[in-house]
Amino acid sequence: MQDYSIKKLISREEIDRRVKEVACEIDKDYIGLAPIIAVVLKGGFVFAADLVRNMKTPFTLDFIGASSYVGTESRGDIKMTKDLDTPLKGRHLILVEDIVDTGQTLKKLCRLLGQREPESIKIATLLLKDIERPFNLRVDYYCFEIPNKFVVGYGLDHNERHRGLPYIGYIEE
Ligand code: 5GP
Repeated sequence: MQDYSIKKLISREEIDRRVKEVACEIDKDYIGLAPIIAVVLKGGFVFAADLVRNMKTPFTLDFIGASSYVGTESRGDIKMTKDLDTPLKGRHLILVEDIVDTGQTLKKLCRLLGQREPESIKIATLLLKDIERPFNLRVDYYCFEIPNKFVVGYGLDHNERHRGLPYIGYIEE
């Protein structure tokens, strides 16, 4: 049984409105550039699905899986659980993420993918946590800045639950 409740933070209507606006910004910035939209698994899948359906710019869709792990050897390196299928050399890449917290995962992912010589890498995230980010990460597009709470829904999970919620909520113990 679930020993916590979920409080609504952002409604489905607010999400729809902001996702449309961000899709419009991307359309304006990528005219004629045919970017690669790389969905960061798993949480980014719902945001990405709505984002691309609101975009008019042609794009190539791809998926990437990454998880941060801390161990005596890795010292917080990221482990790529699924690599992109598309060659990046000379292409414009947009990484689509569910949430940027410390920024560690994306910072390392950008460094890794940068070695493949893409023309550019930008980041689009649904949520940005309002915290001091120790990793100097530039976030190019975001829908909402949120307080430092653990959020679920609209793709985001808590132990694989709640990804299907149509709104974004936070967990209250
Ligand atoms: P970062 O590397 O920016 O610290 O962490 C990013 C990843 O941590 C996200 O892609 C997500 O998987 C997870 N994460 C961070 N904050 C939250 C949160 O509030 N809710 C959920 N469901 N995942 C989070």
